Amino acid sequence: MNPSNIVIAIDGTSASGKSTNARLVAQALGYIYVDTGAMYRTLAWHCLRHKIDVHDGTAVWNLCRQWKTTLACIEHKVLLLVNGYYPETEIRTATVSAAVSHVAAVPKVRNWMKLKQRECLKFGDLVMEGRDIGTNVFPETEFKFYLDASLDERAKRRAAEGIKENLAARDQRDSQRATAPLMIPLGAMVINNSAMTPAQTSGMILERIKKQLKSN
Ligand code: C5P
Repeated sequence: MNPSNIVIAIDGTSASGKSTNARLVAQALGYIYVDTGAMYRTLAWHCLRHKIDVHDGTAVWNLCRQWKTTLACIEHKVLLLVNGYYPETEIRTATVSAAVSHVAAVPKVRNWMKLKQRECLKFGDLVMEGRDIGTNVFPETEFKFYLDASLDERAKRRAAEGIKENLAARDQRDSQRATAPLMIPLGAMVINNSAMTPAQTSGMILERIKKQLKSN
């Protein structure tokens, strides 16, 4: 693990453009992209397959502490594999989206995820997106961003991807949980990109990073 590696933390609400922009920023800088939402989704999918009630925190944790996972870095992207498999399409279903924030509210699960996410540093400089990266996973990083957009705009973006879900309910669960809730990290650059393109949003993020790197 190299503690001197850089971490760019991108947090924000659901469908606020975190994935698109984190990928663009990672590509532009040649950094490794980490989608922490995919890790929580993978656990939710794993629970559903094992018929675990996602509202039962103890049962969710008992499954989590025993699952066989590996972190792999493939083509500049970190993947959490379960029994050697990455459930890329399975974790994007409406059922997983409805289950994931329950799994993510379990304190021991969050601690497990935090350790895995910090372990990603061994792969190199990172652009990591999620809900608690700047506040909880890498609070020490000086590169913090928080993305948001109007609920209407975010629902439109999801609909364009063919996904219908209750974003407001998920945001509310993510913001109101007791452990590492979604919130704006101290010192983060807040970008409301309701009327912005990904090129504009990622351009703003890159400009800020370059300015900070120069002043170091
Ligand atoms: O980003 P994505 O929508 O894929 O995240 C799915 C869910 O995973 C979030 O709604 C949240 O409940 C959980 N999550 C989290 N902390 C993170 C990333 C995701 O609680 N760092």
